Amino acid sequence: MINRDQLRLRKQQQCEERIAEAYRQLPMLQQLDQSIGQKNIAMIRAGVLQKNQTEQEKLQQEIEMLMEQRHQLLTQNGLTEQLYEPQWDCPVCKDRGYIEPGVLCSCYQRERLEDLFLRSGMSEAMRNFTFANFESRYYKNVEDMNHKLEWCREFVKQIKQGNASQCLFLTGGVGRGKTHLSAAIANAVLENGNTVIYRRAADLFELIRQYRFEENRQKFEEMLEQLRTCDLLVIDDLGAERTTEFVVEQLVILLEERNYRNKPWIISSNLSINEIISAYSDRTADRILDKAVLFRLEMTESVRLAKARERMEQF
Ligand SMILES: [Zn+2]
Repeated sequence: MINRDQLRLRKQQQCEERIAEAYRQLPMLQQLDQSIGQKNIAMIRAGVLQKNQTEQEKLQQEIEMLMEQRHQLLTQNGLTEQLYEPQWDCPVCKDRGYIEPGVLCSCYQRERLEDLFLRSGMSEAMRNFTFANFESRYYKNVEDMNHKLEWCREFVKQIKQGNASQCLFLTGGVGRGKTHLSAAIANAVLENGNTVIYRRAADLFELIRQYRFEENRQKFEEMLEQLRTCDLLVIDDLGAERTTEFVVEQLVILLEERNYRNKPWIISSNLSINEIISAYSDRTADRILDKAVLFRLEMTESVRLAKARERMEQF
């Protein structure tokens, strides 16, 4: 995240530099600003200390005249009064990130979402996968698919409330929308300001393997801690990786720790449940699937093929 105090300070410095440069070019501008400043102080003194309203009004008029002169001078030189205002990225909150104490600016919320997205490890293309553009009409049983989508939306809500009691295991062949569905859930979870880590199983295990031999144990522990505690962990394409005892053991430990903390996960796999069981042993599969709802995404053909066929049929 941006350090907003530093950013604001830098912008204020840049603004002062611009003013100093304008004074070098236009000494008259500096004189006008000094006069305006002095008269402002005199006006405050006349009003507050001396309660002299006539003097106050006279000074007010003089200030307005000087400001008009300054306005003309600025205009003649291609400048405006914006010279005196730092160039904020967000004029609403002047880059503070909040509008008033306790009220966050939308720019801050956007920045936080962006930050959450970047940390999630999702690819740029995955941003476009949403519930809205998930097309259940391609599925064998449309009504059933709509129920599944409803469950997924509810899952997102529960994650927001911190009370998701189940996890999700998605199976189905290549091109059956598993990635779309898990990314749609992940995007909605991020949108709520929750944290997500999204990894392909092979990459996740490679990471754990690499870190295992890493000298820096602290780094390893930090990474594991994030995997254990993020609001949603998505492991994509389980079963495509080389499985070793170490990998399986790490997976089970990770899922058990998340289950224990009531932190949900999604696993997607091209393998069927039976194939998972034979790849990971009964006991392991049991422990993996202990808390999971199983969704099998079935179509007669892949979404890509169905779409291509529809395009053909238009001609
Ligand atoms: Zn703002």
